[in-house]
Amino acid sequence: MLPYKNYSGKINLLKTGKLSLVDNLKFFLNKINENKHLNAFNFVFEEEALEQAKKVQAKIESGNYGKLAGLVIGIKDVLSIENKPTTCASNILKDFKAIYTATAVKRLIAEDAVIIGKTNCDEFAMGSSNENSAFGPVLNPIDNFRVPGGSSGGSAAAVAANLCDVALGTDTGGSIRQPAAFCGVYGVKPTYGRVSRYGLTAFASSFDTIGPFSNNVEDAALVLEVISGNDENDSTSSKAEVPALANLLSLNGTKLKIGIAKEYFGEGLSSEIKEALENIIKKLEADGFEIKEIHLPHNEYTIAAYYILTTAEASSNLARYDGARYGYRSESSASLIEMYKSSRSEGFGNEVKRRIMLGTYVLSAGYYDAYYRKAQKVRRFIKEDFDKAFKEVDLILTPTSPTVAFKIGEKSSDPLEMYLSDIYTTSANLAGIPGINIPVAKNSEGLPIGMQLLANQFNEQALLQMSYYIQGNII
Ligand code: GLN
Repeated sequence: MLPYKNYSGKINLLKTGKLSLVDNLKFFLNKINENKHLNAFNFVFEEEALEQAKKVQAKIESGNYGKLAGLVIGIKDVLSIENKPTTCASNILKDFKAIYTATAVKRLIAEDAVIIGKTNCDEFAMGSSNENSAFGPVLNPIDNFRVPGGSSGGSAAAVAANLCDVALGTDTGGSIRQPAAFCGVYGVKPTYGRVSRYGLTAFASSFDTIGPFSNNVEDAALVLEVISGNDENDSTSSKAEVPALANLLSLNGTKLKIGIAKEYFGEGLSSEIKEALENIIKKLEADGFEIKEIHLPHNEYTIAAYYILTTAEASSNLARYDGARYGYRSESSASLIEMYKSSRSEGFGNEVKRRIMLGTYVLSAGYYDAYYRKAQKVRRFIKEDFDKAFKEVDLILTPTSPTVAFKIGEKSSDPLEMYLSDIYTTSANLAGIPGINIPVAKNSEGLPIGMQLLANQFNEQALLQMSYYIQGNII
């Protein structure tokens, strides 16, 4: 058990000498070892993390330390850290070491966080179960026969199993929120552009976001605040001001308006999840929050639009892995074209290949108008649905996933079934809006149930305030 509930508890113990950061780090390293079967980490930086812990401990003693001093963080293995492997859980990048550090990670280190290692994930962040990893699947810490969700399954499992304080993940179509729901932790997907993507391996560039997993709202707010903000290395990163999220968590009696869309509570939703959410809605109403029915009429097209647009972007982004410049190169080829072909055939896994082929197809001359262009139009309609909804309400409350964590192997042979499990999360990425998973309940088998809140673009503050209220008063 950790002797603190959140980072502010931790820094108090560290400052008063009641906790040694080195001991705390050793605790996590031991736990990682004891939980090797979870397969949550691809790489653990034992020595460097211990060095960093010693340095930060001294800084804390000197009284001059950063906002995250001593916070122990795992980083999804799609984010670059200089001189460390960045594999994206793919054989094509098996021996690749990054030559620079991602802005989000740099900002954590600048505030004296301790980076403990790189977490497992689906190959190139494509998947909903973490079964598509060249390092093998991650197990759900609550039930080892089940998936932790994906694609940031290692990050979610690491936080749920207390292998680190916080982890960074990425969310292109739910990859933070859905694994957070499956593992029973908090997970925040920020507004597109809130956090710089510099140093994040691109999957679908107009969808990709970076955000934290944590065991409490306070730590998620603090880490999000640190990693957010404009970056000259990413021209899509926003110049919008970043509020002091961690200090603004109290609603101070403000009764935000919450929208409920029936499109998110229909067929396919597990009755236990539905019941758990209805229960929360009742409690919020009783506490004076206005609950309003809203409509998101284009919701039924989200999965189709998402899988057309993201595969298109992926097919273009992944063209760079050709065996010539970096990463895996096949030894068995007689010509340059052969070398490209066999490097990509041998280096990529099945799901990644499927997406490259789908993406190439929807972008091809004969089908561009029928698929890619149409999906772009649908994306606009979905965005407009949200614009309209946020004129009436401050937040939208939905399930995060239609089911609790499913069994390993249950959906892996049926890609469409797997894609459909993203039904409640992909819309936020199509619209670029922020969302959070809140672990609100357990089902009859003791498996976590997640609830999603969505907010308008750049309104992470309301999202976190409401989550903080729910954490403290409702669940
Ligand atoms: N499950 C979604 C997909 O496979 C989400 C991926 C993500 O957010 N990185 O595309």
